[in-house]
Formats: sequence, structure tokens, C-alpha cells
Amino acid sequence: MIKLVDLHKSYPMGKDFLHVLKGINLEIKEGEFVSIMGSSGSGKSTLLNILGLLDTHDKGEYYLNDLKIEKLDEKKAAMLRNKFLGFVFQSFNLISYKTAVENVSLPLYYKGVNRKDRQKLAMDYLDKVGLADWANHLPSELSGGQKQRVAIARALVTEPKLILADEPTGALDSVTGEQVMEILRGIHAEGMTILVITHEEDIAEQTERIVRLKDGLITSDEKVKKVVLNS
Ligand code: ADP
Ligand code: MG
Repeated sequence: MIKLVDLHKSYPMGKDFLHVLKGINLEIKEGEFVSIMGSSGSGKSTLLNILGLLDTHDKGEYYLNDLKIEKLDEKKAAMLRNKFLGFVFQSFNLISYKTAVENVSLPLYYKGVNRKDRQKLAMDYLDKVGLADWANHLPSELSGGQKQRVAIARALVTEPKLILADEPTGALDSVTGEQVMEILRGIHAEGMTILVITHEEDIAEQTERIVRLKDGLITSDEKVKKVVLNS
């Protein structure tokens, strides 16, 4: 689904450059549940933004679903995002004056889906994250965990191939964060490919593979060991 070959990214800093990604090689296969771990400033969001076609790399190769990503104009990038990707952010990014169901159905509106199907699909996905009863509530009436579940429903509603989640539990307490990870695990069990970015070890351990990022390079890439309980 994703292949990165010697990927680099720098940001201009005055007359100089800040070299953030210094040669990333990474492959993510369909159906994987992967976390990218790294301390603050290690380049996690930079990497996610490139993977999500929200920013461009400046050296190396990026293949998304076998399609080589070169410099894209915004229209093409938006088209690919709509077709392949669902996003979940730390700060939920819900529209405050729209209800839960309206937030979830918005991406379908942009896809040109008719009103009736939008409503039905949005309700189906709200139900999937356990929030059918909260459909007509505004974000301000929901808890942090509920807001993130709405955001997950919104990411899923267009049936993407890959979910990119940047610190999805970062604004939540640990119990609520655990519940959000539980939902992601359920979605993964149904076959979704998910990439979670986090700086929390506990969160990374709930995925199946941990990729560690340090100073712009991958320092380790390991399967999470499952604890087997003998009964
Ligand atoms: P993380 O998500 O791991 O905390 P980021 O990818 O956000 O790290 O940032 C990595 C480094 O790049 C940081 O030093 C940050 O200040 C810098 N950075 C991030 N985005 C930009 C930008 N748009 N312009 C300049 N520097 C940036
Ligand atoms: Mg970040």
C-alpha cells in the first residue's frame, strides 16, 4: 500500500534548511496496523503529512498503491486523498456548528453523494463507533473520546484504503485513549490498513508493528509481541 525509498524532507529556515527526514525506507502492506513512534520533533507529523499528500517530499520515492507520487497539483492530491485516505487528528478537527451526523456526512457531500445516501451512510458509521444516539449533538456537547469517535466515523465514511492517525489519543486521558485504540483495533480486524503516529509507548504497543523514528531516520521496525495468557 505504501512504499518509501530514501525519502528526504527539509524545511527552509532563513538562509538555511532544517533537514527533518533524512532517508526514510518503509513499506506498509495492505491490512497492517502500524505505529510510528518518536519523541516530539522527530519528524512524525512531517512524515504523515507527506504520506497523506498534504505536503511533498523533496528527495526519494513515494509509492501509494503502486502509484508513484511526484509533485502533485492540489486538485490531483485532493482527488487521491478522497479516493484512498482517511485522516484522524489529535485535535479532532470537527466543525463546531455541525452536528455529529453532519460532520460525518460532509466528506460524502464533497464526493457528490446524494442527501439520502449521505444520511444513511453517516448514521451507519456513527453506529459503528457506538454513537448513533449522539447523531444530533454538536461537538461541544460531546466528550473528547466521543469527538474522536465522530472523527473516526468521518474518516471511514468514504471507505478509504488507509487511515492515517496523527496522535489520535494525544488530547485524551489514558482510559479514553484506550477506548479510541479499541475502536481502531476493531476497524483493523475488519481489514482496514491503519497507521498511527504517537509518542506514547502504551499506544504503540496496541498496534501490531512499531516503527521508531529518531533524528529523521528509522532506528527500529519490529512486530509487537503478543502476550499469550495460559488458562
Ligand atoms: P513531530 O510530529 O514528531 O513532533 P514534526 O514533523 O512536527 O515532528 O516536526 C519535525 C521538525 O520540523 C521540528 O523541528 C519542527 O519544528 C519542524 N517543522 C515542522 N513543520 C515545519 C514547517 N512547516 N516549517 C518549518 N519547520 C517545520
Ligand atoms: Mg506531530
